Amino acid sequence: MTPLKSLLFALLLTLNGPVLAAHAHVHGQAKLDVAIDGGKIAIHLDSPLDSLLGFEHPPATLAQVDTARAMVAKLRAAANLFAASPQASCKATGVKIESAAIAPAILAGGTARPVKPGKDSGEHDDLDADFEFLCARPEALHQIDVRLFDAFTRLHLVEVQMISPRGQTAQLLTPNQRVLAW
Ligand SMILES: [Zn+2]
Repeated sequence: MTPLKSLLFALLLTLNGPVLAAHAHVHGQAKLDVAIDGGKIAIHLDSPLDSLLGFEHPPATLAQVDTARAMVAKLRAAANLFAASPQASCKATGVKIESAAIAPAILAGGTARPVKPGKDSGEHDDLDADFEFLCARPEALHQIDVRLFDAFTRLHLVEVQMISPRGQTAQLLTPNQRVLAW
């Protein structure tokens, strides 16, 4: 890349940032920040609760509690959501989930009865999740198949900001185009 081209590219990313951020809460969409550092993969998911759950308030019925538990179970099965290059032998090493509307006992997984309910903000609510992977063979790590669309069928667009060995890139993923490669 020529210096001028790389300058324009950097400018484009800078301009894109705030514009994308202003439209952060769109039902059916989510945002991913992906950082590849040697054999470490760190992924941050920021999504309207609606895109993952279908509602945006504390579960009010047993059926909604079940729906929330099912969402948490899918998020905790991180290897099903993000499939890295098989030869890199990556393993999920951590998942952290936060959402004000969902009771901590539900977010923690398992079947404990929620002691403390989630907070009903009366507004649009989000969910944040952090996923970490460690890869035994970083040299074989070149792509991640983002399978969020299979797990969460309301989702149809994911905005990705990625920092990989190739630098910083921005990408839009859809159910038909969901592979991050570098
Ligand atoms: Zn909403």
